[in-house]
Amino acid sequence: MTSGRVRNIAIIGGGITGLAAAHRIITSEPTATVTLFEGSSRLGGIIRTERRDGWLLELGPDSFITNKPGGVQLCADCGFTDQLIPTDNTFRRSLVLHQGAPEAVPDGFMLMAPSNHRAIIDTPVLSFAGSLRLLAEASIPPRGDVDDETLASFVTRRFGREALERLVQPLVGGIYASDPDKLSLRATLPRFLDMEAEFGSVINATKQQKQARGPDIDSSGSGARYGLFTTPRDGLSSLVDHLADQIAAHPTATLCLNQKIESVQPAGSCWNVVLTGENPPQSFDEVIMTLPAYRVAELICDPHQSELRDLLAGIEYASSAIVVTGHSLSDFAHPLDAFGLVVPLVEQRRILATSFTSRKFPNRAPAGRILLRTFVGGAMQPELLDADDSEIQQLVNEELKEILGMRKPPEFSEVVRYQRAMPQYHVGHQQRVDRIERLIGNTAGLHVAGSAYRGVGIPDSIASGRAAADAALTPAAET
Ligand SMILES: Cc1cc2nc3c(=O)[nH]c(=O)nc-3n(C[C@H](O)[C@H](O)[C@H](O)COP(=O)(O)OP(=O)(O)OC[C@H]3O[C@@H](n4cnc5c(N)ncnc54)[C@H](O)[C@@H]3O)c2cc1C
Repeated sequence: MTSGRVRNIAIIGGGITGLAAAHRIITSEPTATVTLFEGSSRLGGIIRTERRDGWLLELGPDSFITNKPGGVQLCADCGFTDQLIPTDNTFRRSLVLHQGAPEAVPDGFMLMAPSNHRAIIDTPVLSFAGSLRLLAEASIPPRGDVDDETLASFVTRRFGREALERLVQPLVGGIYASDPDKLSLRATLPRFLDMEAEFGSVINATKQQKQARGPDIDSSGSGARYGLFTTPRDGLSSLVDHLADQIAAHPTATLCLNQKIESVQPAGSCWNVVLTGENPPQSFDEVIMTLPAYRVAELICDPHQSELRDLLAGIEYASSAIVVTGHSLSDFAHPLDAFGLVVPLVEQRRILATSFTSRKFPNRAPAGRILLRTFVGGAMQPELLDADDSEIQQLVNEELKEILGMRKPPEFSEVVRYQRAMPQYHVGHQQRVDRIERLIGNTAGLHVAGSAYRGVGIPDSIASGRAAADAALTPAAET
């Protein structure tokens, strides 16, 4: 890919973004030297799969979407596509809590786009007036001048408050763990703003897109577009291991675990990467930083970069916990015949959502058992994470008992905390990222990638890692 001398590239962070960047470098420019520094004793970052007595536990993410190309492209490039499995279509639907009881999300309702109007009228989740208001969206005139808007403002304006509170907030909140009064629609779900601008309404856009597409397996079901999700048969860590093996086998690549980076300092036309402890700094032509934005801000030690540091530090993060539990199916009064349950904030419960993980993908639980992942905290209930693990396990047990009729405590329960791990794309995020990218673009040899910038999911993170690798292999002077 490059001409000229061989590049010497550092990657900081061994999550999926850093691994994707390293893999891109060894496959596009095999003579480049790449050193990946990971501060902990394991690769994968937020991704962590464990096997226990017939259970396959995803302690972080559990799948990724295929209509964003990053994940599937990486799997194709590293020879991993045959490991990917689709969601099981037996229970492909979502539940939403309504006045204490789980109800089906109306058939064909995807995040905020309704494609089955009868189901909107019939759903017990909305009042009759709320259903009519939702469907009136088709005749609400578009607001011409909208560049960005909060999720709450857009949905209330177009579909009504009830649709926001009862359906959209819990479905979208499940992805971003965010405050709907702050979440930027442009930075998270821009297609809905574009639908309004192009077709006059989301409903008209959905109708026309459906006609153009013809019958589609993904228009069945409800909640998220589950037909588009995939995961490795043996869990997401198997992708991490596969990438790590290929990188480690490459003659000019080095994976360094337990190597926490303290700072990154300019040194002439290079960058010095400073490790904690006694290790001497190491010099690189290019540095790709794949840490959360606030950590990147802490690491950049260059007096000329105060604006960049402030912009990075200003990206807020939410914390959450996943409580992974294993049960006998017969221990529930509810049949758990769905992919999961989302909980609207207006229900005033202490959980955000529960994913029925072993209903989504096969071989996650032994026969007759079910694996659940319950989400706690997020931007709207951070105080719940002040509790210790046993209190969080207790509150999840109480909620599962009341909501799903759990009759016995789980066979096991594990709390996994994610402290400041979920970037919050507030209104103005896109302009902030544009400016960050301009400043980075003017700083030779420095690159950032990860979920902080242009998409929070695994495919976005992978795509940003690969783009940063390409930029590092094509330094400014050569472009
Ligand atoms: C609870 C939760 C559930 C999620 N579920 C999904 C899902 O189902 N599907 C989906 O697509 N996305 C999901 N996501 C998002 C997805 O996990 C991220 O997009 C992705 O994992 C980010 O990877 P990363 O490599 O950028 O960051 P990370 O995984 O955070 O990796 C960063 C790495 O940097 C290391 N590090 C930190 N500081 C230093 C330092 N100073 N020196 C060296 N190393 C350092 C860390 O130890 C870590 O290994 C979820 C996120 C969370 C928090």
